[in-house]
Amino acid sequence: MTTPWQHTLSTQPRIAGFLERLAQAPPSSLLLEGGTVAERLALGLFWAARLMCREEAPPCGTCRICLQIVDDACRDLFLLNGAEGSIKVDTVREVRAVLGDPPAGRGPRVIILAEAQALIDGAANALLKSLEEPCPGNVFVLLAPSREILLPTLVSRSFVLTLGWPHEEGDDPDLRDSLGLLTEFIRSGKGAWLDWTGRKGSVDARMADAILREVQRSLVQAGYGNPLTELSRLLASRLDVVAVRQVGVIVENALESLEVGANPAVVLEWVAIRMWNLLHK
Ligand SMILES: [Zn+2]
Repeated sequence: MTTPWQHTLSTQPRIAGFLERLAQAPPSSLLLEGGTVAERLALGLFWAARLMCREEAPPCGTCRICLQIVDDACRDLFLLNGAEGSIKVDTVREVRAVLGDPPAGRGPRVIILAEAQALIDGAANALLKSLEEPCPGNVFVLLAPSREILLPTLVSRSFVLTLGWPHEEGDDPDLRDSLGLLTEFIRSGKGAWLDWTGRKGSVDARMADAILREVQRSLVQAGYGNPLTELSRLLASRLDVVAVRQVGVIVENALESLEVGANPAVVLEWVAIRMWNLLHK
């Protein structure tokens, strides 16, 4: 059978080696940044399986525990996925309520917070309490595009590993389609935007630059009360003047990052998430 992490282990061999060494003494909180959304999730699941699988060369990928982890049906695995919407304080509290109990199996309990930037404020603070008073037998995994978008206190309590950036090659998708995905993501936090930016090779620097210039254009329209695009109508309806300026700074920073060679997919993810945050404050 094919596990979700098999491919990522081959594209991120350095991280695979790190995790293997780290498994000798697992940190109570591990933060995986960089790479793509899919790679981060794959490695988060790999880490859970590495710690829980009881076979000789864990994770075997075929035992009952490994299969349950792959199906998200393992009682000792909690997967809170911010890619599917914000992570709420009640959800974190539910997890916290079981942390004092021993895990169901012989391995540790693993709590994965995928796209942890989607933790809303109260949820992040509730999580922080768990990291500050770790119960033995519990291992946290935070996944995020970059540590800068998480609460510094969460980062400082985590062991941070940075995945390699995805390769830039391949398709050249239509600018209008990608702006539509971006607009939908900013409006709802959902849609295919993160899938698209996370797909290997779908975003190159030229495309990212073009998208960011369009966002700037929409911002100007929104700021002058003359929204012509779907994106500018959304921005005009949801942001005040101060917030429009904040988005402007975000886009400027992103363009600068592109110029110095930052990964375009990661830059776009970062911009979209920052904009989502501003609209949903
Ligand atoms: Zn196994």
